[in-house]
Amino acid sequence: MMKTIKKTIVVYMGIVLLGLCIPTSAQKDVLAVAGCSLIDGTGIPPLEDAVILIQGGKFLAVGKKGEVRIPEGARVIDAQGKTVVPGLIDAHFHMCYPNNREKPFILNEPIASFRAAYHLHKHLMGGITTILDAGAYRNVSVMAKQAFSEGLLLGSRPMIVAERINATGGHGVSRFPMAYEADGPDEFRKAVRLQIKKGADVIKILPPYTKEELAAAIEEAHMLNKTVAAHSGYLRNYDYIRWAVELDADVIMHAYDLTDDIILNMGKKGIYGVPTMTIMMKLHATRGKPIPEDKPHEYEIIFQKMKAAGIKMAVGTDAIYEFMNENPDLYFEEVERFVKNGYTPNEAIVAATRIGAEVLAVSDRLGTIEKGKIADLLVIDGDPLDDIRNLRKVSVIIQGSKVIKGHKSFLLKKSAGAIEDLLH
Ligand SMILES: [Zn+2]
Repeated sequence: MMKTIKKTIVVYMGIVLLGLCIPTSAQKDVLAVAGCSLIDGTGIPPLEDAVILIQGGKFLAVGKKGEVRIPEGARVIDAQGKTVVPGLIDAHFHMCYPNNREKPFILNEPIASFRAAYHLHKHLMGGITTILDAGAYRNVSVMAKQAFSEGLLLGSRPMIVAERINATGGHGVSRFPMAYEADGPDEFRKAVRLQIKKGADVIKILPPYTKEELAAAIEEAHMLNKTVAAHSGYLRNYDYIRWAVELDADVIMHAYDLTDDIILNMGKKGIYGVPTMTIMMKLHATRGKPIPEDKPHEYEIIFQKMKAAGIKMAVGTDAIYEFMNENPDLYFEEVERFVKNGYTPNEAIVAATRIGAEVLAVSDRLGTIEKGKIADLLVIDGDPLDDIRNLRKVSVIIQGSKVIKGHKSFLLKKSAGAIEDLLH
């Protein structure tokens, strides 16, 4: 009797397991992107005639046509002759800035929220599916993240530093209050805890600070499993960023004022860089330092040294004021500048995807087109490996469970999970 029951259980379990393995005949909740040349963001050469299956906001299968079977009933985007790349990541963005500095400057939470919604939407429509907001006004970026997870915000997925942390009167509050002010190691430590409590994904420290304040902030953030980004360039005092590298900050934002020894130390320690060359060059041009046409700019030379030192670099725009009007083009200019200064097109795509995800500490879930990862994907009309400028020709945008642009826009069913996985 027992034997029969056991046998029945084994047979039943077998049926259940088989049921899990064999796709049902009609899978209308599966989206297939088929026939493309796939650049998956890992840096390997492209896979021709690829098929990518998406279900529930994640990649269900990725491979060559024939190896990956498109389930009956799946919706199919025919991407023959086109290229597919992961959704792009902007590792330095500011959602709250006005796009004008001429008019009287209004800054309050309602207007900052409208600005955030507008700029995040515009960036998404260029193919930038995730951003790191590197400093916002009060709680606006925290609420943008909330709005996104509730499905209220059609825009780049916001990952955030919440409020930047600096000493009283520091860089983030010198023009208007867009940073948290703290003084002394204990207050820096508490400021880190506060940002994480609010929902910060990354902690960002701005000068000025003492070495002790910075050490407390980095130690606290690391204990709470968060990465620390430090801003280089302030008062032309090299020590701020030298300390940040010495004390094991995870990311250095901008390529201002990085001396050769700092660059070498960054490379040795595996500290990431987000050079934001293009915006720095443009901002300095407005202050009487024109961009040279016949030779590399000083920031491009720093970038080249960073590359030579083996520093992994992500793409960040950092547009503020009137330069926000240049988004998302500014993003592509920066990618092209990576290529102009020594990256291969495939390396630049990796910088714009996988390395961005590494800087945001979410590369286990995002940034490459691999089974199980969040399904952020772009179809490009043309081959960006032939000419990196082709990356601008985005014809389809998929962000997790949403088809944002191209084909027929539709919301895939059974979408819960992808967004929540990333944000909580
Ligand atoms: Zn910035």
